[in-house]
Amino acid sequence: MIIQGTNQHADVREKADVVIVGTGSGGGTLGAYLADRGWNVVMLEKGGFFRAEDFTQREDEAMAAFNGRRGLDSTIDNAIFLNYAEAVGGCTVHYWGDSFRTPPDRLERWRTGHGLDWMTPAELDPHWDAIEGELGIHITEERLLNENNRLVRAGCEALGIEGAPPPTARVDCIGCGWTQFGCPYNAKTSQLITTIPRVSLAGGRVYSDARVDHIVVENGRAIAVEGTLRNRGTGDERAKIRVDADVVVLAGGALGTADILLRNFPDDRVIGRRFYINPHYFVWADFGREIDNATGIPCAYVVHGFRHVRLDDRARYAGGGYIMLTNHQSPGIAAAMLSSTGADHMEHMKRWHHLGSLMSVIDEENPGRIFLGEDGIRRTEYNVKGVDQHKAVDYLKQASRIFLAAGAKEVWIPDVFGTVVRTEADIASKIGLRSVQPNAQFCAGSHLMGTAPIGTDPADSFAGPTGEAHRVKGLYVADGAALPGSVSVDPSLTIMGVARWIAAGIHERSGRAGS
Ligand SMILES: Cc1cc2nc3c(=O)[nH]c(=O)nc-3n(C[C@H](O)[C@H](O)[C@H](O)COP(=O)(O)OP(=O)(O)OC[C@H]3O[C@@H](n4cnc5c(N)ncnc54)[C@H](O)[C@@H]3O)c2cc1C
Ligand code: SF4
Repeated sequence: MIIQGTNQHADVREKADVVIVGTGSGGGTLGAYLADRGWNVVMLEKGGFFRAEDFTQREDEAMAAFNGRRGLDSTIDNAIFLNYAEAVGGCTVHYWGDSFRTPPDRLERWRTGHGLDWMTPAELDPHWDAIEGELGIHITEERLLNENNRLVRAGCEALGIEGAPPPTARVDCIGCGWTQFGCPYNAKTSQLITTIPRVSLAGGRVYSDARVDHIVVENGRAIAVEGTLRNRGTGDERAKIRVDADVVVLAGGALGTADILLRNFPDDRVIGRRFYINPHYFVWADFGREIDNATGIPCAYVVHGFRHVRLDDRARYAGGGYIMLTNHQSPGIAAAMLSSTGADHMEHMKRWHHLGSLMSVIDEENPGRIFLGEDGIRRTEYNVKGVDQHKAVDYLKQASRIFLAAGAKEVWIPDVFGTVVRTEADIASKIGLRSVQPNAQFCAGSHLMGTAPIGTDPADSFAGPTGEAHRVKGLYVADGAALPGSVSVDPSLTIMGVARWIAAGIHERSGRAGS
């Protein structure tokens, strides 16, 4: 059952086997797993409850309704836009649906670097098999590649660069194009239409507009969470809610989980200290003619050829360390990304129908941090620095090359210098570190991870390998916050797989019947 907190006026007291804070990739997956096995599940979600008919596909309405901080959240220096959803279903309401299993080399890094022995394909594959079946994940059909995707593919093929259509979480998608504002056709298999209904069907209660602030700990064990039910429009408190449970799971996303934990454990030295975002830089290409970049799905072709870092013979960075996603953006967001102004900006926007676009997913080595300001409000600090800046520059160059090979008339690096590239010589002479300084061009982060990581060493992790907090029994993390680092590809299927593995452990250790 969905209970919309915005309509509640009386305080609520609930008792459950498990209470889950957050309903996105991690929370939804874990909740459905336990609900299917007979657990009495309560889920609390800070954001609102929206259905297909609420998704108008208008960017202004969608961002105001379910983007965190109404689509205006950024790092403290305003250099990086933080893109995340607050809604029943979490980020999967507006995510693009690319669904990659964690690359084995990344699992290996987490095994050796963080003592997570269980992070093997053999251990996780059964969970991914199940999730892929439940979400209908399959390789993107050719019909969903728009012209931008086909041009990027042609550019990659001409240059011998590896790329492919990604596995996607969709069933019977009509390729309308505006995935980022919620799917009005129920084709994108978000948590909203997959795991959350399963929790409801099994008798679970899912509260929207329910913000958790406090974890109740007694004798070293988490026994309940407390929060408030809020008016969706104004944010004003309507009533209080408390849920007592045998198990408390935090799945509020890297921002939300860190926010709660920082409030409850202010002396902890790990929470919020490793904040990964996979910086996204954008490159636009003008093909001098109308191309179709607004239909299909935002990303129907992924460039994998640069995922691994290359070193030169003196072990210095020589390239790579990112993947590229084909990208399309609605006019308003595109306008905000382009750095031109006045008549130039109008001229750029008139050419919106001519533009192809690529976006980086930088596998960063230097995370940022999350902390509470003196006013008690969450702040994020993140600088693209060191080798990560060089990765960004390498990406801008390689993306430009791909577009030129695909026949683009000019490539726009949307920096404050108005950099335009028409030839290989331009790539060498015009693209450099100045373009990736803070605030020199639009940069975004939508793969938020690592702020309450799991691991064996309490000095370096908030929770142990099972997901249970080192210092509080019965308190788990099972979302992007729990990941030890960047995944190097889009993270949702990693988060779901890890959450399902953590759920299986909770179930097994509880000694309950069923499997
Ligand atoms: C536009 C966009 C496109 C993306 N596309 C892809 C893609 O194609 N493929 C991919 O793999 N990844 C993609 N991602 C990233 C992916 O969606 C996220 O990494 C993933 O869904 C995060 O899962 P999570 O469980 O950590 O958190 P979320 O899915 O963010 O869920 C956390 C939920 O917890 C709630 N919450 C937070 N604090 C509280 C609180 N105090 N009380 C109650 N509830 C709270 C939040 O409101 C939110 O709904 C995309 C992200 C964005 C923004
Ligand atoms: S592109 Fe497909 S999944 Fe996305 S909103 Fe349109 S129909 Fe839904």
